[in-house]
Amino acid sequence: MAARDRNLNALFLPYFITSHMTPLIDTAVLFAARPGVAVTILTTASNALTFQPSIDRAKSAGHRITFHTIKFPAAEVGLPEGIENYGSVASRDMIPKVTRAISLLREPMVQAIRDLRPDCIVSDVMDPWTVDVAEELNIPRLILSTTNCFYYCVYHHLMIHKPYEKVTSDSESFVVPGLPDEIETTSAQLEDYLKSPVESGSSGELIKVIKDAETRSYGTVFTSYSEIEPEYVLHYKNVMGRKSWHVGLPSLLLGKENETNMNRHRCLNWLDDQEPGSVLYVSFGSVVRFPDTQFTEIALALEESGRPFVWVVRKIGKTCEKEDEDWLPEGFRERVLESEKGLMMREWAPQISILAHPAIGGFVTHCGWNSAMEGMAAGVPLITWPLFAEQFYNEKLITRVLKVGVEVGSGVWNRSLDIRSPVVGKDKIVKALSHLMDGSEEAKEIRRRAKEVSMMMKKSVEEGGSCSSDLNSLIEEINAYVLHE
Ligand code: UDP
Repeated sequence: MAARDRNLNALFLPYFITSHMTPLIDTAVLFAARPGVAVTILTTASNALTFQPSIDRAKSAGHRITFHTIKFPAAEVGLPEGIENYGSVASRDMIPKVTRAISLLREPMVQAIRDLRPDCIVSDVMDPWTVDVAEELNIPRLILSTTNCFYYCVYHHLMIHKPYEKVTSDSESFVVPGLPDEIETTSAQLEDYLKSPVESGSSGELIKVIKDAETRSYGTVFTSYSEIEPEYVLHYKNVMGRKSWHVGLPSLLLGKENETNMNRHRCLNWLDDQEPGSVLYVSFGSVVRFPDTQFTEIALALEESGRPFVWVVRKIGKTCEKEDEDWLPEGFRERVLESEKGLMMREWAPQISILAHPAIGGFVTHCGWNSAMEGMAAGVPLITWPLFAEQFYNEKLITRVLKVGVEVGSGVWNRSLDIRSPVVGKDKIVKALSHLMDGSEEAKEIRRRAKEVSMMMKKSVEEGGSCSSDLNSLIEEINAYVLHE
């Protein structure tokens, strides 16, 4: 085979959610670090600005990586300049405007891809339309999925066997047929679009388009680790007939948080004064919106548990504690916060550094895949509280397959980021917290497993580990494909 006399030009296309953009752009950086690869990231100016420091670092290391930016149609949809993703909205009415702007971007993005003529496209799972332009240009489209193979396999068998049609109530458990493990779920935990006909313009319709694009794409790159789901990696390949590569969570590989945060965050100093393994870290990711009643129950539970905690409270447009605390239980500020029994944060938390701190003994998480992996990589057992998207599947991987966590029992899937499922009461939360933190034999076993899984993840990112060999073989395969076309 003739050697290539030019670079493999890979085009990366991020979606407009921070927790999707970060792993995709970090994966682009890993691609560019491989010999003979040049990377272009297609996005809008303000999003590019956020990631410019990573790209500058990669460039100064001699790698070929650059942004190609197009204008975000802020004025056309009535958004202020600079609001270019869901994470930066300052009020709820901006959310549909961001959605509208993203749909307006489709055509200029297609045109930019035609002009750039890449050798392959690596796009977020939320950009299924890229499969059309890839087919037009006769190049492979790879999906960058910021989740795991387990979810794809369970979803596949739910679609085929429809076991939820055989139960008499939403809360009746059933086993999903056809999987390597016995995975039980309920209808209430499943996406509504999976169970009923999809309506035009609904998120169910988008998922259908995404699934259709998956079958027409070259393969899927998972920001997961093959070691933690080996049977599902095989299942995806042998039973579902799809190609996949597991590159790990790139931000952990790149060690970015430590590099960029030169000023140590105050919460890390507070953690230095706590007993090892004693503190609960409570965070529900970057986009979820709880009702105030749920915040109150969490506060009551944290106080009753008597454990020190770091609790990240995220609310749209509300970054100042003092202007929004009607929901705090009476006297909570004085009894708990001012006496520093626990820390409540409104700002963006340095989550990876927090989880890596030896004082952390448990992580209450919504099972967003980035958070789940960050917790597992740090060897911290999880208290799972799934809410929306594929988080109920992630919970099952965490608690039933990997056995590195306990379930809070949230039980009902939410169709939007505005949480409408029944409020999880204080007693249920306290029960889950004690279950993990009470030092029982079962809790000790969960902790032991958490350390074991963390070791597996660490080994897989070492030189020659599965993450780098998957990335190498992916690039080799794409190169060979492009060469033969
Ligand atoms: N995150 C963070 N600080 C915060 C909130 C979130 O660093 O205060 C990061 C977190 O470390 C993770 C991402 O944001 O990498 C959240 O992604 P995830 O997939 O867990 O959830 P999502 O935000 O998509 O619901």
